[in-house]
Amino acid sequence: MEKYQGKSVYGAIAVGRISIFKRQDVQVKRIKVEDINAEIARLEAAKENAIAQLQEIYEKALREVGEANAQIFEIHMMMVEDDDYNEAIIEMIHGQNVNAEYAVAVTADNFAEMFSSMDDSYMQARAADVRDISNRIIACMSDVGCDNSVSDEKVIICADDLAPSETVSLDKNKVLAFVTAHGSSNSHTAILARNMNIPAIIGVGEQFLGQIKDGDMAIADGFDGQFIWDPDEETLAVAKQKLEAESEKKALLQKLKGKENITLDGTRINIYANIGSVDNIGAVLLNDAGGIGLFRSEFLYLENNDYPTEEEQFKVYKRALESMATKKVIIRTLDIGADKQADYFKLDKEENPALGLRAIRLCLSRPEIFKVQLRALYRASVYGKLGIMFPMITSVSELEEILAICEQVKKELTADNIEYADSIELGIMIETPAAAIISDKLAAMVDFFSVGTNDLTQYTLACDRQNPHIERFCDPHHEAILRLIEMSAQNAHKYGAWIGICGELAADTTLTETFLRMGIDELSVSPSFVLKVRDAVRKIDLTK
Ligand code: PEP
Ligand code: MG
Repeated sequence: MEKYQGKSVYGAIAVGRISIFKRQDVQVKRIKVEDINAEIARLEAAKENAIAQLQEIYEKALREVGEANAQIFEIHMMMVEDDDYNEAIIEMIHGQNVNAEYAVAVTADNFAEMFSSMDDSYMQARAADVRDISNRIIACMSDVGCDNSVSDEKVIICADDLAPSETVSLDKNKVLAFVTAHGSSNSHTAILARNMNIPAIIGVGEQFLGQIKDGDMAIADGFDGQFIWDPDEETLAVAKQKLEAESEKKALLQKLKGKENITLDGTRINIYANIGSVDNIGAVLLNDAGGIGLFRSEFLYLENNDYPTEEEQFKVYKRALESMATKKVIIRTLDIGADKQADYFKLDKEENPALGLRAIRLCLSRPEIFKVQLRALYRASVYGKLGIMFPMITSVSELEEILAICEQVKKELTADNIEYADSIELGIMIETPAAAIISDKLAAMVDFFSVGTNDLTQYTLACDRQNPHIERFCDPHHEAILRLIEMSAQNAHKYGAWIGICGELAADTTLTETFLRMGIDELSVSPSFVLKVRDAVRKIDLTK
């Protein structure tokens, strides 16, 4: 047994087996090859390996989830051996003298595109499958080897660090907890872990990776930030007790479902939820959130290998709005850049990416990308109650430019005879000191503000939110931050806007009363914190 002290970013506990995160180079390069036959032999070996993996998964699924659910793996096996698919790959290797990985990747793209463009929804769904099997074959050819982990058991993912794009690509249903050697508590990976409602411990130090092995038992104790490798019986028993206590506490909070977010003296507040994907909506509804206060749309871009099309985005936004019915859904426009990188954006390397071409700056620099997203959002607006929010605002002129682009998009939609709602709320994030300081001017131009305390803290205190070494200087309770929030709240109300907080601080119940006294109208938190914040609100008496 060995204990490693880290920093907890989500208070929950997990007991289970370790799975060490294997980083795979997903970028397939085009390489000229001389020996075509050797390349085809590599392809055949990889396919054989992929089929063996699929067979194993199929049998396990058959035992555990039944024939109907297992069938998909049978289809995958058939797809690996499909004549058209294989001919296309081999033709490409022969015709262009390229490596097999590249031929598989290009064929996958072509087939996926062909499937997506079919009218039949069953065939459309095959696009994802062809990509899936192709990735499996490519993984089997890569140096990192093929991923043989076919276990359906939930595992504790251990890694040196995880990028947001890596976190989103993990199968959430199989993750019990995250434990990383590095990382900081305000990083997007930490935020994702909170959204996923699972224990996450960061900064346990590099040495733990040298000790652990796949399949070892461990405890990720997000209550005290401890990662315990190979626990003894006694430690396991204590952890199990904590697990039980946790589920009892959760059950108690469940009693608050359906209750109002109202203080003892009758002040009401909205409690909404933050999400990174439509897959989180189940948790939003389960935890009785009043709406979605922040949909980080950039994860849609991070999950893809290319710009999501207007149609793809439209479908996602429509689904979010329909699922939330009459409840508000605030979708934030693309906030890519800094730690959230997608290769296909081909962004230049920057000295200070957090101060660089990110979020709205990127959208205003590449309006063609921005307009695709806005068109998708406006089109989806007829399916529910949409709010659109713009990140990283620093000036009035930026906002004027954004509003002009929105008008242009609406005009184009009207010209195309495409409907959009006329009651869409437009708002901005207050996450730079500049925005808070000129919040009087900005409030007059929008319907709402939402304070992004993660970035507001970073930019106000000059503390890189990714840097674990300066966390002690990075106090989100700093008077400067609270004054900026208060100032923004006063200006919002004076100029007719409402104001929420969607940064991580919104879930800090030691500040709930302070926020209520400032007049904050909405708190948007990870779905799993909604009831905890409701509980805090209901215990506050503002007359005292
Ligand atoms: C914030 O900065 O507080 C925020 C909510 O945005 P993100 O964490 O996605 O940067
Ligand atoms: Mg932010």
